[in-house]
Amino acid sequence: MSTRTIRIALSKGRIYDETAPLLARAGIRAQDDPESSRRLVIATNRRGVELIIVRASDTPTYVQYGGADLGIAGRDVLVEHGGDGLYQPVDLGIAACRMMVAARKDFDYRLAVHQGARLRVATKYVRAAREHFAAKGVHVDIIRLYGSMELAPIVGLAEVIVDLVSSGQTLRANNLVAVEEVMPVSARLVVNQAALKMKRSQLQPLIDAFAAAADLGRARRKAAR
Ligand code: ADP
Ligand code: MG
Repeated sequence: MSTRTIRIALSKGRIYDETAPLLARAGIRAQDDPESSRRLVIATNRRGVELIIVRASDTPTYVQYGGADLGIAGRDVLVEHGGDGLYQPVDLGIAACRMMVAARKDFDYRLAVHQGARLRVATKYVRAAREHFAAKGVHVDIIRLYGSMELAPIVGLAEVIVDLVSSGQTLRANNLVAVEEVMPVSARLVVNQAALKMKRSQLQPLIDAFAAAADLGRARRKAAR
């Protein structure tokens, strides 16, 4: 059987930190630490399996166009990308948080919605936000930001933000409160649809190993609660 190199796209930070144990359970160890190395292509202990290090929001794009066969990306990022050309076989259950609507403590979100007010929404999750408010029948002007969304309500740029929340510390530190959930978020394994057909014999065992590692992680988190 001919073997072709399998590339897995990952982002540094949270996704890599939480993926490394899953990779280890799947028998894959990186030969350089992506956090300290400047290399963007990282070999592993498994011949024919390499990691590529990309921006979190670029992971679906690399996998869609075949720059990587597999990738790990948050549901937030996948919703914004749209998922074209991607097969999403496994919810890994890692990097879990919630996408929330948040506002200043002194802003009465429920009243504004009830009164049919037009809301300015600052977010980098433009698509998720648009769909969320459209489904509720709330009229919004979306203001696209690339980060530090918490500032927007403080300086009067927007009434509300849509952002990811885990502990709520950043919101609290900026006198904001979460007022509504948009969606629960966790990281998923994504696979290039064409690669899955062409390299199924190499990819399927990896997909199965990720699924098993994710199940084990879930069981462990449950036992720890
Ligand atoms: P970036 O700042 O480039 O978006 P992050 O490492 O902050 O990269 O986020 C990468 C992914 O981790 C996000 O797309 C999301 O799925 C997840 N994530 C982001 N913030 C949190 C959080 N507070 N708790 C858990 N997961 C998060
Ligand atoms: Mg971030």
